[in-house]
Amino acid sequence: MSLALHTIPEPRRRYLRSVRPSGPMSITVDGAEYINFSSNDYFGLSQHPEVKAVAAEALANYGAGAGASRLVTGSHPLYAPLEARLAEMKQSEAALVFGSGYLANIGVISSLAGRHDLILADKLVHACMLDGATLSGAKLLRFQHNNLADLQRLLEKRTENKRCFVLTETLFSMDGDRAPIQEMLALCRQHDAVLISDDAHGLGIVEHYPDSSHIQIGTLSKAAGAYGGYVCASQEVVDYLVNHARSFIFTTALPPATVAAADKAVELLANDESLNERLFDNIILFNSILEGNLNVANEQIMSPIQPIITGSGGAALAAQGALATQGFWVQAIRPPTVPEGTSRLRVTLSAAHRSEDVERLAEAMGELIA
Ligand SMILES: *Cc1c(COP(=O)(O)O)cnc(C)c1O
Repeated sequence: MSLALHTIPEPRRRYLRSVRPSGPMSITVDGAEYINFSSNDYFGLSQHPEVKAVAAEALANYGAGAGASRLVTGSHPLYAPLEARLAEMKQSEAALVFGSGYLANIGVISSLAGRHDLILADKLVHACMLDGATLSGAKLLRFQHNNLADLQRLLEKRTENKRCFVLTETLFSMDGDRAPIQEMLALCRQHDAVLISDDAHGLGIVEHYPDSSHIQIGTLSKAAGAYGGYVCASQEVVDYLVNHARSFIFTTALPPATVAAADKAVELLANDESLNERLFDNIILFNSILEGNLNVANEQIMSPIQPIITGSGGAALAAQGALATQGFWVQAIRPPTVPEGTSRLRVTLSAAHRSEDVERLAEAMGELIA
């Protein structure tokens, strides 16, 4: 039988490449070494000696895998301090760790919302929020990106008998700009809606807005340098999720070493201010060199995600290639990840980048795009 699979034509087609980490912020691809400016390890915590030490200890003590789901025999004692730390950081009553940010988003959204409910999602939210909305069976409407008036318009049209959930990211993954969380929470309170925000890129960067009707999802795979996802919410919501979120119930728990690494990383994020200082020094340096030169999409430049819009996908790929010849790995991002005509280079900066490398990249990009 022929599966008649649809093949994505060039240049849209995606390929997997083998990429070996070869230093704190460097990678080796096809035998050549590059400085990695496309990782979401914003604080370099995946390589932090204290993070690696606790992971190694947990690996030695407990082995490589958890062996079962958290509800069977996989809820290791290491989860409790991590969940307490996350709840404290986000100032929520409780927290629950999932297998990944993707699993947290689909599990939370699909179990809280049902087919009689309404979901209003920012136009640019991550695919996993939309997948959660689809799984929930709720009616899904999109509002213009970060547009409070458009959100209000949709909230006002809503009929009384539907529960309503509003979905956004805190720091948007492809544009690096921030949602007006405080204003959105006020609108949600006014219209009896629940805000679900995905803080995948904001951990340790974006301030928190505790509110009993705010459900905060995030990942331990990016700024925390480990792996896993989480939700911070009321104890009532967390108890509900333990019993209803299928992507929590029907999957194996994280390896103990990963939980230990995430816990140490979140502890460092909460307490080591030098991490934040080094990241923001690099962000300021990058922008000071490029200011006025480039078509930087976001005015809020205090973001580790720096998109440089090229328009066409071909131009983004060509720029990526030119930077690679100079030893920089910068990812070209094209549709369908971003809207048509907004292909871009997505530079991600980290506290672990050396300032001279940030400077050389900014200069190379300035010459390339000028
Ligand atoms: C990366 C990402 C996720 C998924 O998190 P994982 O832990 O990698 O599964 C979810 N939401 C957003 C906005 C992301 O950027």
